[in-house]
Amino acid sequence: MRQFEHKKLFLPGPVEVRREILEAQTQWMIGHRSSEFADLFARLQDKLKRAFFTDSRVYVSGSSGSGLWEGAVRCGIRDQGRVLHLTGGAFSERWAQISRANGKNVDCIQVDWGRAHTAEMVADALSRQRYDAVCAVHNETSTGVTNPIQAIGEVVNQHEDTLFFVDTVSGFLGTDLRVDDWGIDIALTSSQKAFALPPGIAFAAVSDRLLERAASINNRGYYFDFLTLEKSLLKNNTPSTPPIALMYAADRQMDAILAEGIEARWARHRDMRDATHDWALERGFGLYAQAGYRSDTVTTVANSLGIDVNAMGAFMESEVGYAMDKGYGAIKGKTYRLPHMGDVTMDMLQEVLSGIDAFMARQN
Ligand SMILES: *Cc1c(COP(=O)(O)O)cnc(C)c1O
Repeated sequence: MRQFEHKKLFLPGPVEVRREILEAQTQWMIGHRSSEFADLFARLQDKLKRAFFTDSRVYVSGSSGSGLWEGAVRCGIRDQGRVLHLTGGAFSERWAQISRANGKNVDCIQVDWGRAHTAEMVADALSRQRYDAVCAVHNETSTGVTNPIQAIGEVVNQHEDTLFFVDTVSGFLGTDLRVDDWGIDIALTSSQKAFALPPGIAFAAVSDRLLERAASINNRGYYFDFLTLEKSLLKNNTPSTPPIALMYAADRQMDAILAEGIEARWARHRDMRDATHDWALERGFGLYAQAGYRSDTVTTVANSLGIDVNAMGAFMESEVGYAMDKGYGAIKGKTYRLPHMGDVTMDMLQEVLSGIDAFMARQN
């Protein structure tokens, strides 16, 4: 067994975080009602708006992304309202479950795991029933499918009273997303995926239309009430105590991302996706996700060679120094995921892929 400085994460969240970003968290604490905090908030706000391609606003939440799922549903779906969820993977199905848990009427367009939703499916559903909102997952991390969010947005936007909610937890800052151009009313994300931050902070770009809707709803809850968050945001602040250390890290990471260039960052992810596909297909593995909709940030490998994913994971930890994914939920083992997201470089990806090669060579 080799010795490593630390076990690097090659997981589809939480991802490996660079030392510089970890260290940004160790700056001295400041009071969140101070002018220094307002400066930090405003600085970060400006950078986040650029990252989401929005002119509206980005809420910063001391929670993981799941909290903002609940916020979107409570602020956007009327008490007796109906919501359409596009489901076909662990995360899209859990979001629908959260809408039900909040007492909303939920319809789903369920596709088989590994398949994408199309604009035609959504157009058909909206022609038959009125919905307060359509909820879509941009990048379904369990299956490695990226949904055609722009095309779906065009369809949803033809319906005046229907808002468009997008979970881009594992898409944001790894693959194309333009919130304003694509007519998205909320794009929510977590920190620990392609943003490459530690977990514990979440972000949502929210439209004026969604705030108008929220104003017409009584029971929005408190912690994820967007009107409460908005009142504070206008003062460069948060209603309750914010995760200041994580905001330092986010501010530092946004500088690095803007220096790389957001479109260049998307291109780096696409290149890593292509290299991963080539590697998998050359070895005789399959690709689990439907052709044409394969994710730029995570490849779900169909384990057609039947490798023992637990043995592979153990080998990678002890001999190569990486914690590996072994597939999600119902498709664990039949698939495993290669998350080429965040600050992963082509060199790091090649190190991981060579490690899996070494594992497979040992089996023969
Ligand atoms: C990880 C993930 C979530 C859950 O995010 P948390 O930050 O763990 O709450 C939701 N949606 C997708 C697509 C994810 O990948």
